[in-house]
Parts: sequence; structure tokens; C-alpha cells
Amino acid sequence: MKTVILDRDGVINKNPPNNGYVCDWNDFIFLPNALEAIRILTQNGYSIIVATNQAGISRGFYSEKQLSEIHQQMLDIIEAEGGKIVKIYYCPHHPDAKCECRKPNPGMLLQAAQDSEFEVSTTFFIGDSITDIQAAHNAGVLPILVLTGHGRETYKKYINAESTLSPYKPEKIFTNLYSAARWMIMPKN
Ligand SMILES: [Mg+2]
Ligand SMILES: [Zn+2]
Repeated sequence: MKTVILDRDGVINKNPPNNGYVCDWNDFIFLPNALEAIRILTQNGYSIIVATNQAGISRGFYSEKQLSEIHQQMLDIIEAEGGKIVKIYYCPHHPDAKCECRKPNPGMLLQAAQDSEFEVSTTFFIGDSITDIQAAHNAGVLPILVLTGHGRETYKKYINAESTLSPYKPEKIFTNLYSAARWMIMPKN
């Protein structure tokens, strides 16, 4: 099955202000056209997976139970709008924990590939941060950068061509998830 993996914050919903974490549902605001993007991907046969760093759990800002409640509300709205997300992977660990799942490490993407049996080399991971692009490279999936969330900052870092980043260039760049989705569903020769 065709699969696409999405980062959450800055791709589906706005990066929240303050401490940068979605601590409860009030902090969760869908980005413009994100629901429509998820709908057209779903309608065109894509299996959609989310992979998100959630260190706010290890920092004590919210619990795994609260996170799952936020995700349930998100999924309910996505489904009401005609889209479907099949699975959400999250890393609850602190950056100091040096786990395998926290992006830029590839753990979540590799676990998803194993669970859902998709071909990594032809699957896209859509994110707004350098750590998303790096995680994609580290997992062998194709990175797409969107310019929502931290995307513009990330893009500037690439044009400034910092040599340490150059091996991790995105495969494609789109203004937002909707334009990425439109491209993904276009017939390719
Ligand atoms: Mg993000
Ligand atoms: Zn982790």
C-alpha cells in the first residue's frame, strides 16, 4: 500500500507558542488546508502515518494519557472531514535519554516500516524541521520539507548551505501539506 508519513506539529497543526508543546486540546490548531490535504491523500489510497517527537511527556508538561486524548480528538476531526490516519508513533523521551526513536534518529520511521511493511525507499516523510529531514535520511525514506511551522527557518538554513546540512537535503519542498499532497496524488509517468 502507498504510505506517507507526516510529522505533526508544524505540518498538521500550528507549532504552539510558549513552551512549544501542545499540552492540551486548546493548544491544537489545524493549519489551513491540512484537513483537506489528509482527505485527498486518504481518498487517493494513501495509508497515512504520523511520527512526532513528544518530549513534553518526559518534561512533565502532559501525560501519555493526555497525549492520547489530544490524538483521539485530532483523529475524530480528521475522520469527520473524510481523512484517516492509520497510526501515530510518538517519542516521549527527553533529548538526553539518547533513545532511538527521537528524531533525527530513525527509530519511529523504521518501526512504522516494519509494522506496516512499506518500502522505505519509495515512501515520503513530510516535516518542517531539520530533524525531520535527517530522520528521513537516516531511515532511508524520502524527505519532503514544508514551509509551514519551522519550515521557513529550515529552508533558510539550507540555502545558506551550511556544509553539515548538505548531505541531508530535502527531496522536494512545498509551501504546505496541501500542496505536497496535490503533488503526491498527481499521476506520474
Ligand atoms: Mg514539526
Ligand atoms: Zn524516544
